Amino acid sequence: MSSPPRPSGVPKIPSIPSTPAPLHIRTDPHSGRKYHASAALPADTDLLGRCAPYSYTIWKRFRNEVCAECWRYDGGRRAFLTRRDDEGLELPSHSPSEQSCVGKRSNTASVSAGLWFCDERCQRTWISREGAEVVDLLRQLEAARQKKPKPKPKSDAKAQEAVVIAPDTVERAWVTLREKERSPKEVRRWREVQLEDYEADMARYVLLALHGYHREQCNQPSPQQSLVSRAEAETHSQSLSQTDAAAAGSEGGCDGRPEWETFASLQSNELQLLNACPEILEHQTRIYQLLKGRFGSRVAARSSAASSRSSLTPAPSPSSAQSHGDNALSPEDARAGEPSDTGSSTNLLSEPSLADLVTVENVRTILGVDPGNSFGIWETPLMEESECLGFAVYPLASFFNHHCAPNVRKERDGRTLRFLTTRPVEAGEELCISYGHVETMDVRTRRQELLEGWYFKCRCGRCTAEAGESPRT
Ligand SMILES: [Zn+2]
Ligand SMILES: [Zn+2]
Repeated sequence: MSSPPRPSGVPKIPSIPSTPAPLHIRTDPHSGRKYHASAALPADTDLLGRCAPYSYTIWKRFRNEVCAECWRYDGGRRAFLTRRDDEGLELPSHSPSEQSCVGKRSNTASVSAGLWFCDERCQRTWISREGAEVVDLLRQLEAARQKKPKPKPKSDAKAQEAVVIAPDTVERAWVTLREKERSPKEVRRWREVQLEDYEADMARYVLLALHGYHREQCNQPSPQQSLVSRAEAETHSQSLSQTDAAAAGSEGGCDGRPEWETFASLQSNELQLLNACPEILEHQTRIYQLLKGRFGSRVAARSSAASSRSSLTPAPSPSSAQSHGDNALSPEDARAGEPSDTGSSTNLLSEPSLADLVTVENVRTILGVDPGNSFGIWETPLMEESECLGFAVYPLASFFNHHCAPNVRKERDGRTLRFLTTRPVEAGEELCISYGHVETMDVRTRRQELLEGWYFKCRCGRCTAEAGESPRT
């Protein structure tokens, strides 16, 4: 969903009805999860609160002009950006136990992490949420960005159009990587992979997602504590079904960092993306190699970790099979793909490590979520000539389906998104947003636009009526 949010112009926002919750998730076997109003709602009802992104990227072109925290952009002027990376911050040193989980920060890198902030407040907020160590990880990643992009060979547009990428081709590419990564020597070579700008920008999105997942694991309560909080979450969100209560997070809302489980459960559009742009498979391969080479091996982990860990916990990827649908690798493949150096003796007491999370499954899941699920970060206030500064994934917001006459609009406030009803909605009515700025187009153009950008033929009430088709069931 790279559509621009509509300009804001709502004077007054009614408070959210606390009970019952304004919306619930229904799971439809054909169209997946979707939101429905659990009661009649007035116009301008705030449905989810402030939704925070799971991961994002700001394109390099705008990196020096956008605050990494609040995404403020001033038409290319940069006078308001006064802080860079972690410069000027007195960061408390980690406690010994925290250090062993997050790794030790190195102070040697001279490359910029590519983060600019309005002021110390934005800087502190970003660093306390993402983790101080991620500044170093981004520096390491930026060191792999090609200084001078190679001139692109002139592509033959017609020849490219003719390519249809087979699911087998994609599977083979990843299986090959998993075979190669059994050799530590090969993985060491991957450290030297140089990334083009697009690849480095995408690698930042993947790295922030993996690192967020790692922090989630580090902060996880003991299994007993988590049982209690799950039970509490379920009592507090009775309008959600049992599984969807987990999907909505323990707060039952959108505020705070979403969970990996929800993020990874979003539909993968990997094949749709690769069919449209087959050359992206090569980019994805290189992104994986670089991340694996720099952050994914025990050697790399050891060099940055403060304490030695005897072995590593296998990376759980509960939803990768679901999100890759029929293309999922079999459990045998998954086992065969485990890098040989992640050890055969699994010690359950060992600390979770970022290195364990740099797996083919996880990286594919993250890359597959972007197309069709991410929201463009548009310059606000939104105008015809607004710039798209990057993209972000808001897992809970991705359960809104599209409608060409939507009853929900989105508004960006800093890095958060809010979803408000555009009109009174009846109990049980499906809540839909518009994915693109398609409402003013005729039905043919609109459908074409949605097919190319979001990979579906729109059969919403408006489209079926305008095309003279029988309405969808
Ligand atoms: Zn800011
Ligand atoms: Zn439609």
